Order: sequence, then C-alpha cells, then structure tokens
Amino acid sequence: MKVLVINCGSSSLKYQLIDSVTEQAVATGICERIGIDGRLVHKVNGEKITLDIALPEHETAIGAVLDALTNKEYGVIASLNEIDAVGHRVVHGGEHFTKSVVIDDEVIRGIEACSDLAPLHNPANLIGINACRKLMPGVPMVAVFDTAFHQTMPHKAYTYAIPKEYYENYKIRRYGFHGTSHSFVSKRAAEVAGLDYNNSKIIVCHLGNGASVTAVMNGKSVDTSMGLTPLEGLAMGTRSGDIDPAIVEFIAKKENKTIDEIMNILNKKSGVYGMSGVSSDFRDLENAVNEGNQFAIDATEVFVYKVVKYIGAYTAAMNGVDAIVFTAGLGENDKIIRNSICQYLGYLGITIDQDKNNVRGVEAIVSTDDSKVKVMAIPTNEELAIARDTVALVG
Ligand code: ADP
Repeated sequence: MKVLVINCGSSSLKYQLIDSVTEQAVATGICERIGIDGRLVHKVNGEKITLDIALPEHETAIGAVLDALTNKEYGVIASLNEIDAVGHRVVHGGEHFTKSVVIDDEVIRGIEACSDLAPLHNPANLIGINACRKLMPGVPMVAVFDTAFHQTMPHKAYTYAIPKEYYENYKIRRYGFHGTSHSFVSKRAAEVAGLDYNNSKIIVCHLGNGASVTAVMNGKSVDTSMGLTPLEGLAMGTRSGDIDPAIVEFIAKKENKTIDEIMNILNKKSGVYGMSGVSSDFRDLENAVNEGNQFAIDATEVFVYKVVKYIGAYTAAMNGVDAIVFTAGLGENDKIIRNSICQYLGYLGITIDQDKNNVRGVEAIVSTDDSKVKVMAIPTNEELAIARDTVALVG
C-alpha cells in the first residue's frame, strides 16, 4: 500500500508518501508560507526540488502536493489511483479519541468539538482533512491523534488541583502531546533492549523544539509532562514549561500586558531562547556555550535539570524504571545533552559508555553493559507510526 501522511499546520503542510511494505518514504516535502505567498519543497531520492508557487490556501497546497507526486519529471507515482489511503496527524483528540480512527463525518464533528482545546492546531488539521477529502474522494483517510496514547493516564495523573467544575464544564485536565512519538519510541526501545513491552517501565524523553517526558508502564502512558496544552512541562526551545501560574498576573500588572501578550511570551519568547537570548536551536546554543557565553551555559543547565527532575518523578510514579530513552532532534543527536542528563542519574545505577553515546540519529544502547537501567537513543518516526495506524485501519 502507498499511504500519504499529511501534517497540516496553520501556514505549512508536511507530507510523506510511504510504501507500507518497505516502510520507506518514497517522497517527502513541505508546503510553506500558505496564505502568504507559497513555496513547495519536494524531496525524492535525496534530490530537492523547490517550487515557488502561489499557495493562497490549503486546498491549493494539497493540489500542489498531488501534482508534485504525479509529476512526469520528479513525481513518484503515475496517477493518484496509486495512493491507497491518507493518514492525517491531528493534534487534539480530547477525551473522545483514545486511538486512531477512520475519518467520516462524525469524526470530523468530533475533531471540531476539540478545537477549543487546540485552537491553533485542530482547525488547521481539519482544513487539511477537508481539502484531501475533496481532492481525493473515495480514498480512505485516518486521523491519528497526538493525545490518544496518553488517554490511559489515571485520574491522579491527569487531574489538576483546581475546582472540579472546570473539568466538568470545560474538560480542563492533562492531555499530553507527542503521543505518536512516545508510543512508537517506547515500543521500539522495548524491542531493542529485549524487554517485554507489556511488563516494563520506560521513560521516554522526546527532546526537540517542543519537548516532553512520558512514563510508559506496561505499554501504557501513565503520566506525561505536557498538559492541557503543550506549554506545560520541560523548558523548551521557546516555551517556558512549568512556571508558577501567579507569574502571569505579576507580569500583567508590572508591564500592563494582556493575557494574550503574556501567553505569546510564554509560548514564543521563553524556554532556552528566552533564558539565553541566543537562540531556540540547541546547535546555536552549544556554539555559544563553547564560546563561553554564560547565559547559554545557564540556559542549558536549566533545560537539563528539568529533564532530570521529570525522570526522578516518573521513576517514583512507576516505582522503578527499566529504560530511559532519548528521542527527537536533540535526544537522537546530542550526546552532550544525553550525557549531562545521565550524570545526575547515578542514584539509579546508571552509567554511560562514552563511546556508545558518541552516536547521532541511530538506534543505540548508550549505557554500559553493567548499568542498572538501560539508556537508549531511538530515532522517532511519527510519519511511519501514522502510516502503520492507517494501514492497520484501512488495509
Ligand atoms: P520539532 O519537531 O519539535 O520542531 P526537532 O525534533 O526537529 O523539533 O528538534 C529540533 C531541535 O533538535 C533543535 O534544537 C536542534 O538544534 C536539535 N538538533 C537537531 N539536530 C541536532 C544535532 N545534530 N545536534 C544537536 N542538536 C540537534
């Protein structure tokens, strides 16, 4: 089967056409600047084709993707008939969607109903779904939710200590995100480490621009660091993560700012970017660290320390841990960050093998053979996870 995986954001749309037999992407790409001017970058066999084309809205963008996939020169399929199914990433499934589902009108209404929980993401995801349904009528489509894997969290993990009416009236609770990645990576880590997934305690650290930690016990998410929104938890590229909520009021009064302005600061101007004043990108941050920039040194330390605290908390929550897994841009690639975090974990009997940790973007056990807890790097592949779910539901 060939599955088109679509990740539709407000101004960009990423896609991969995945062959379900080889599990390889035969083409990938991104439409950027949708609604502004438009650019499509299409990649086939390592070759990159950049097309400056007007993309006034998402339907045009999907049309351009389908044109690129079937193009005589750089396309990879002869006609759209070769696309057997489409898998859509949907950010928020609320409490309604506990697993991936085949999209029909009722599912669309369900995703719409979750839109106030993810006002920036779900409407964009829906635009992508509707555009695909229009341009590829009859092709089965599946929605895969970032939140679904975390729906197994117990009440004590997902409940905020605020008046219960807020849960009853508005469903305010912890949902968690990156679920597709946490599920994919924890499963793969169990295979690589030779653990029984259904009888194991795994902590996954998804450290990218957005970052979250999840406690996966016996194959189920039992706690995760992101909350109602992706703002909670770790310090991230530009997000603050956990702060005292009273800070919002304090800044509002001191600087005469609105809630929207402060939320923008916490989402876009905080994290390692805000703390360092250098960059949200850890490669820039590490260059600054090497040049002796104290703000960059301190920001990295805060980032590391928060991951360490979540690992401690989740080890306690599961009464132990068998494996700690690093994934996403930073977790997969950055041996310094992995090592810095693990230096705090001697109390768990963890020791890192510096040679084994000297890897980038590959699956590896980076702890020593006698380390009491296995530490691993496992590349995530959310698109493949979406394609697998799609095949499982419509194949
Ligand atoms: P997202 O999907 O949330 O946008 P990614 O998972 O792509 O984020 O991760 C982006 C982060 O990973 C950036 O901070 C980037 O600096 C870091 N990163 C990517 N590649 C490397 C690398 N080779 N070494 C160190 N950090 C890296």
